[in-house]
Amino acid sequence: MGIKLKSKAKINLSIDVLGKMEDGYHNVEMVMQTIGLHDILTIEENLSGEITIKSDTSNIPCDERNIAYKAARLMKEFIGTDRGAHIYIQKRIPVGAGMAGGSSNAAAVLTGLNRIWKAGLSENDLMDMGVKLGADVPFCIKGGTMLAQGIGEKLTPIKKSCDFWVVVCKPNFSISTVEVYKNLDISEISERPDTNKVIEYIENGDIKSLAGSMVNVLEQVSEKRYSVISHIKEKMMHQKALGSIMTGSGPTVFGIFKNFDDAHKAEAKLKSLWDQTYLTKTEDEGVEVYEG
Ligand code: ATP
Repeated sequence: MGIKLKSKAKINLSIDVLGKMEDGYHNVEMVMQTIGLHDILTIEENLSGEITIKSDTSNIPCDERNIAYKAARLMKEFIGTDRGAHIYIQKRIPVGAGMAGGSSNAAAVLTGLNRIWKAGLSENDLMDMGVKLGADVPFCIKGGTMLAQGIGEKLTPIKKSCDFWVVVCKPNFSISTVEVYKNLDISEISERPDTNKVIEYIENGDIKSLAGSMVNVLEQVSEKRYSVISHIKEKMMHQKALGSIMTGSGPTVFGIFKNFDDAHKAEAKLKSLWDQTYLTKTEDEGVEVYEG
């Protein structure tokens, strides 16, 4: 028995860091948005009981370090099955980009195995299990538009009243999320998002005001080190983006557009400069099963 799933990327329409907790984690407030850019995961039952990972890219480890492997092992232990799985990852989401590529793969594995191993778990059960793998995993399972608080695992859905086009552009290097948080001095944050306003604009479908209110406090850490981040933002704005910020801890920058033609032109221009540029759209659900 097998299943094929879309494992979708996310962007952050805003990120605020409110403080550091005793355990070293940061207390955040982020507005998360699923986008159409996705990896394809094919999962087949492995009668030997083993979990195997294969991918069409050498950019990710294909062994127990892969978060998809960790997700499968967690599910296997949780339900106490002797079944196994072959997992094949077709990577399209840039790696180490701030788009939760790994977390969304974990989300797809939990969703897929729940079906093919007939575990009978609810979406909430899967989300509770997912947080053990990473703070973004529960969001990636459910998807859509959400306010994420705590370490990113406390989710409140936001009722978005219109979709928009998104151009994402990743320069040719990756950034470690851990490093960015390590270098963040909360007392030095100069500009914070007004998260309530961001939510209000999303609910009212006021894309222009939303675009103008997007702020990511992690940008100042990543931008200081890599000037190309500011450069991409400028290019996005020059190409008629309504607003442009960095997603996650970077280095990917995205721009939002109401108009498809503008988004399409921006994609072509940015792609001529940075190969990993994609045109996509906001989506209302996370992991999607499309075969099986
Ligand atoms: P986030 O936005 O959640 O911080 P990210 O997009 O910045 O995530 P990922 O693409 O998830 O980062 O990759 C981070 C690291 O995880 C990389 O070093 C990568 O090698 C490793 N990794 C392990 N498994 C996967 C996977 N299935 N897909 C992508 N990266 C993986």
